[in-house]
Amino acid sequence: MLYADLHLHTKYSHGADTPEAMYAAGLAKGLHIMGFSEHSPRPEGFDYTHEYRDSLTAHLNDYVTGVTTLRDDPKNAADGVPCRVLFGMEMDWLEGEIAFATTSANAFDFDYLIGSVHFIGHWGFDDGRGPWNDASSTQCFDWYRAYFDAWEAMLSSGLYNIAAHPDLIKIFSVERFHEWLRLPSATSQVGHCLDILGESGMAMEISSAGLRKPCREIYPCPEIMEMAAARKLPITFASDAHAVRDVAHGFDELARYAHSFGFTEHVYFDHGVQTRMEF
Ligand SMILES: [Zn+2]
Ligand SMILES: [Zn+2]
Repeated sequence: MLYADLHLHTKYSHGADTPEAMYAAGLAKGLHIMGFSEHSPRPEGFDYTHEYRDSLTAHLNDYVTGVTTLRDDPKNAADGVPCRVLFGMEMDWLEGEIAFATTSANAFDFDYLIGSVHFIGHWGFDDGRGPWNDASSTQCFDWYRAYFDAWEAMLSSGLYNIAAHPDLIKIFSVERFHEWLRLPSATSQVGHCLDILGESGMAMEISSAGLRKPCREIYPCPEIMEMAAARKLPITFASDAHAVRDVAHGFDELARYAHSFGFTEHVYFDHGVQTRMEF
């Protein structure tokens, strides 16, 4: 059993539930650590079709208040605490927006920041299958390379503690992604990213969200897990739940998966300080 879920959303972005309801769900599932990581507001020009950018900006303070109130509740901080709350944020890596990201990262006293690439340029590539339907292999391969270029920039930025859903780019084209990853140039590009991740002091996220998405595969895939294990990268576990039903989703499977690559410890961040736990 895994006891820490470090990637949780709330109704303050496009999720369904309050921090309190998510916390109650985590307690019911036996979690000992719950890390909230709502989407950070984004600058103009980075939009999804069903936009929640305005909602993020409008509700940022509600999110902060909701989570820090839970975290600071003496009932949650006493000995015998049933479940600790960590205050985090999932922040997009957006091309040309390092100043915006730095300001957002320093706006609150976060326990940790999750770095995510959801955009190639100004295109939210996980927003829908549309552009992927008619894309050629060449086009897809270009997108995979561009994704990992952005991932490398995110990892090198020094802004984040955790690298989210490492191969999110496979979401709508998983078989093709595996074809690409077998190319020596691709293996080398991803390996180079993981080297940077290792040097940065960050942890790599293992996420069950992929099991609920069209790729039907944990993020990251087995090949990337092998590369991460060879580098002894610190790992975190994530459901990326946007509703109470998905808190700690698939955690037994995630534990078996990580064990099968030789991982025996995972980490969490408290005010940026990494702590290891066995699982
Ligand atoms: Zn994400
Ligand atoms: Zn997320």
